[in-house]
Amino acid sequence: MEHIDEGLLRTMPVSLQAEVAVIGGGPAGLCAAVAAAEEGADTLLIERYGFLGGMATAGLINPFMPYYTGGEQIIRGLFQRIIDKLDAAGGWSHRQDEWGRDAFDPEIMKSVCQQMCEEAGVRLRLHTMVPAAVAEGGQVIRAILVSKSGIEAAQAAVFVDATGDGDLAAAAGAEYEQGRPEDGLCQPMTLMFRMGRVDEERMPPREEINHLYDEAKARGEIDNPRENVLLFYTTRRGEIHLNTTRVVRLDGTDANDLTKAELEGRRQVEQMVAFLKAQVAGFERAYLAATGTQIGVRESRRIMGEYVLTGEDVLGARKFPDGIARGCYPVDIHNPTGTGTVIKKLPPGETYDIPYRCLCPRGFDNLLVAGRPISADHEAHSSLRVMPIAAAIGEAAGVAAAIASRQQQAVSGINTQHLRHRLIERGASLSEGR
Ligand SMILES: Cc1cc2nc3c(=O)[nH]c(=O)nc-3n(C[C@H](O)[C@H](O)[C@H](O)COP(=O)(O)OP(=O)(O)OC[C@H]3O[C@@H](n4cnc5c(N)ncnc54)[C@H](O)[C@@H]3O)c2cc1C
Repeated sequence: MEHIDEGLLRTMPVSLQAEVAVIGGGPAGLCAAVAAAEEGADTLLIERYGFLGGMATAGLINPFMPYYTGGEQIIRGLFQRIIDKLDAAGGWSHRQDEWGRDAFDPEIMKSVCQQMCEEAGVRLRLHTMVPAAVAEGGQVIRAILVSKSGIEAAQAAVFVDATGDGDLAAAAGAEYEQGRPEDGLCQPMTLMFRMGRVDEERMPPREEINHLYDEAKARGEIDNPRENVLLFYTTRRGEIHLNTTRVVRLDGTDANDLTKAELEGRRQVEQMVAFLKAQVAGFERAYLAATGTQIGVRESRRIMGEYVLTGEDVLGARKFPDGIARGCYPVDIHNPTGTGTVIKKLPPGETYDIPYRCLCPRGFDNLLVAGRPISADHEAHSSLRVMPIAAAIGEAAGVAAAIASRQQQAVSGINTQHLRHRLIERGASLSEGR
């Protein structure tokens, strides 16, 4: 490929400065920014869209996967505050499905995220993408920003990469892995969609819908590789959420692949809408109510840190002295090449710890990673990627960033017992750490 040097990056204003700069405003970035600001750091949150929430809003992902096990709620803290605010605004469903999953309203979620930032005093910069970084000697010196304002830079004592894809860390030169070990392929992408005006009373049981789906596939009317129709109730009567398109063998960090994925996802949505309206009782008068602003990317980079969480750690319900969040969601790997989903559950009532070291990229003193791209293998990633866990990791990253900035210390050098203690004071539910 030809490369040109137009000198565009030689001069640019350092227009944003903060003690803590969080890149990406999804569940992890939101909680990181709010926590850092509440812990007293001057905090900036930079987000590429014009609203916050990440996959929970832009990806139209719903519901929250279970965050309680054996009768215990294992994720609290800021995540619970999000739920309380959703509930108070009428954006929380009490219609739990058979797996105990609660739905939330994505439009109300956008407002809740904004309110939480405003209340905590987080400074926001929306419509701004971070495609590059300047790093030297284990320090991220600047994040490069691209927006309608042109090319600018942001400077901070501590950066938190909450982009879901580890964009900042990768741009700064951090080590990363992607996809499964044998061929680097990632889990499929899914364009979420919702059908409105569904007569829920007349909807057949799931087994019957899946049977109709199999028949439509056999007739060649559907070529979506997904094995069944995955649907959920929402906060709105008559509106059904579908997590059922499947786009395989593409890379969520490559703009050409993302373009292909969006086009393929939308083609599959059209097929599914036609199928539901023609074949499934209750959907005859339904219409396509919404699709995600972007296709959902389940898996991309995993930034290698001081510890790499493994599938064995997850399934063995392992605890760590520096555990900063807990998970109970199974290993859940949608087939990267086609049909099928592998689910491996933890022992009943058990949880695993996420060690703080997974948030600390190797070789960097002022960079933390939060949410989906933390240091884990392909199996462990498939469990920790869900929204409640991402939020809990984010809160820990925010508190840690504020401590490191205040103490002018390397992120990997902070006292993890102090961090755990502070998280518990803030309402987090942690294991005993051993
Ligand atoms: C198809 C699919 C289905 C899923 N189903 C569920 C489910 O049912 N329940 C559940 O709990 N979880 C589910 N998940 C997982 C979950 O939605 C995500 O893994 C979770 O949102 C991760 O949170 P995050 O904050 O790390 O990243 P994200 O939610 O991806 O947020 C990242 C944020 O960073 C911004 N950003 C990205 N790059 C840049 C950049 N370079 N510069 C500036 N901003 C940037 C993005 O716009 C976004 O706001 C699903 C995921 C997918 C893709």
